[in-house]
Amino acid sequence: MADPVLASRPVRVRAPKGARVFEIHWADGFVGKIPHELLRGYCPCATCQGHGGTIRFVSGGDLELEEINQVGNYALQFTWGDRHDTGLYSFRYLRVLCEMAMDAAQAGGDRPELPRL
Ligand SMILES: [Zn+2]
Repeated sequence: MADPVLASRPVRVRAPKGARVFEIHWADGFVGKIPHELLRGYCPCATCQGHGGTIRFVSGGDLELEEINQVGNYALQFTWGDRHDTGLYSFRYLRVLCEMAMDAAQAGGDRPELPRL
């Protein structure tokens, strides 16, 4: 059984300029890789998602990751090449995205709706 505390604590992120995959290392040793297309497409902000209960994939938008900021002790905020920066990705939500990206790579690109976390 995975430790839920360690599983939702990032220890390191990597997003080199020009890369198209965001890498995040978790305290339990898991290394998640989220293609920018998925990270942007699953932006949880109200502009992208409205106020629905789940988060769906929305294609489009600039996929250059300009900036990453930590928000408090619970979330990351990404600034995209088109200055879209209203998405707050909680650590728990990022972990779900990491695991979904891994499954999607194996399953050939399924894009399910995700819970708000
Ligand atoms: Zn958004």
